[in-house]
Amino acid sequence: MDEQALLEQAIAFHGHYCPGLTIGFRAACIGLRALGVARAADEELVAIAETDACGVDAVQVLTGCTVGKGNLILRDWGKQAFSFGRRDDGRMVRVALRYGALQRDDEGTLPEDERRRLSLERLQTMPDEALFDVQWVDAPLPGPARLFRTVRCEGCGEGVMEARVRLRDGQPLCPACYGPEYTRRAP
Ligand SMILES: [Zn+2]
Ligand SMILES: [Zn+2]
Repeated sequence: MDEQALLEQAIAFHGHYCPGLTIGFRAACIGLRALGVARAADEELVAIAETDACGVDAVQVLTGCTVGKGNLILRDWGKQAFSFGRRDDGRMVRVALRYGALQRDDEGTLPEDERRRLSLERLQTMPDEALFDVQWVDAPLPGPARLFRTVRCEGCGEGVMEARVRLRDGQPLCPACYGPEYTRRAP
């Protein structure tokens, strides 16, 4: 499938065409090209997104990596950076938007929608090297999706994956029943 058709798929999946989606789209194109692979049919590719913003939707469409399959790892670090790896040989490439690549000094005074339009235009026309840093990285590839036992939460009685359970007075509780301090105690 050519890039234009893939872009249209990504836009349809995401719901709108925006700079963020385009960053993820171009990063995924670069990553897949570097790895020499097409879209992953199942679990042979792994993607790590360092943002939970728009771009990750393009990465899902292009790579076939999804949260549900366990081969899309979301790291909510607020960075426009995406890594793409192959499970068979462990090679992984990280594609990161260069700081300031989309800004110009004289744009501070422009209205928001005009700056957005200019960003999108640059993302459509600037060469890969001007927009992205591309590096081979030594990232440990996560294994295939793991299966966990389900246990019964003593609070609500619902089933919860064992790995998400916390004990209070020896009783297994799901995150909702354990309460807000659950996340502060997460491993
Ligand atoms: Zn968007
Ligand atoms: Zn519960």
